[in-house]
Amino acid sequence: MTRQIRKVAVIGSGVMGSGIAAHLANVGIPSLLLDIVPDLTPQEEAKGLTLEDKAVRNRLSTAAIQKLAKQKPAPLSSKEKASYIEAGNLEDDLHRLQEVDWIIEVIVENLSIKQQLFKKVDEVRKPGTIVSSNTSGISIKAMSEGLSEDFQAHFLGTHFFNPPRYLKLLEIIPTEKTKDDVTTFMKAFAEEVLGKGVVECKDTPNFIANRIGTYGLLVTVNEMIKGGYSVGEVDSVTGPLLGRPKSASFRTLDVVGLDTFLHVAKNVYDVASGDEKATFDPPPFMKEMAEKRWLGSKSGQGFYLKQ
Ligand code: NAD
Repeated sequence: MTRQIRKVAVIGSGVMGSGIAAHLANVGIPSLLLDIVPDLTPQEEAKGLTLEDKAVRNRLSTAAIQKLAKQKPAPLSSKEKASYIEAGNLEDDLHRLQEVDWIIEVIVENLSIKQQLFKKVDEVRKPGTIVSSNTSGISIKAMSEGLSEDFQAHFLGTHFFNPPRYLKLLEIIPTEKTKDDVTTFMKAFAEEVLGKGVVECKDTPNFIANRIGTYGLLVTVNEMIKGGYSVGEVDSVTGPLLGRPKSASFRTLDVVGLDTFLHVAKNVYDVASGDEKATFDPPPFMKEMAEKRWLGSKSGQGFYLKQ
């Protein structure tokens, strides 16, 4: 069967979902970018707005899309790229998943929330539509357990790296139920159309890159505490001064989002034991920062203030 990806649904418009939709726009593939309607802000409540008003406004507004399209250096103009991304809200637009050839889930790193979403997706998608998760390391098999055979045959992990427009790596994680032709197609599509370098991974906690990367970061933080080093010192010796402009430890955490990082560390913590469990238990100061919503760039304050 000849497959084609003419249109994609990206579910979750946070750090990664918006970046993936923008990358798709850069290669000329239109997408439907869906999310839940966020709670009302105190200012919106004071104005008497309801969640319904907000849902309608979200669906119609293109301002956010134009803003994210402007970030992308690519052959298309911002206006052209914005026209490739259509925003919607999950509740009203779920049926529109029938319009697309690939559905990519990019919501919060939580197994049960992702399972609830996939159950709904299974009910509305066209048979044969590829569905993937951008999870950083939750079991792909566990996410699709109990869903239809057709869903499981077309389901796999497609793990993009942040920011998707710059980082070429894509981990692809099939399960034993994923059809071979789906995996082969997605690998070729990712390389030839999305311009990615693909590494196929086993469905083990945090796959390969995050299994190593999360470990490295947590060991770095623990050494920093023991040695009494500062955040600035650690970033100086892990980043630009060593010729690695994008890899400074805490700057990277700010880009990733501390809440997401803590969820990803938990993926291994939950299955580890002994010393390994202790390593994957982040120090209290990181949890306190997350509680205060010092999450990094997405909340304006992390280890650094957003510039
Ligand atoms: P984010 O917090 O920036 O965005 C998550 C989005 O999910 C939000 O827009 C939120 O409204 C939405 N959401 C939450 N609950 C939902 C629900 N029930 N239904 C629909 N949408 C819901 O998170 P992110 O950093 O974009 O991460 C998304 C996924 O990508 C996670 O699985 C994460 O592990 C993975 N990932 C993140 C990074 C990174 O650097 N941040 C890199 C690779 C993979």
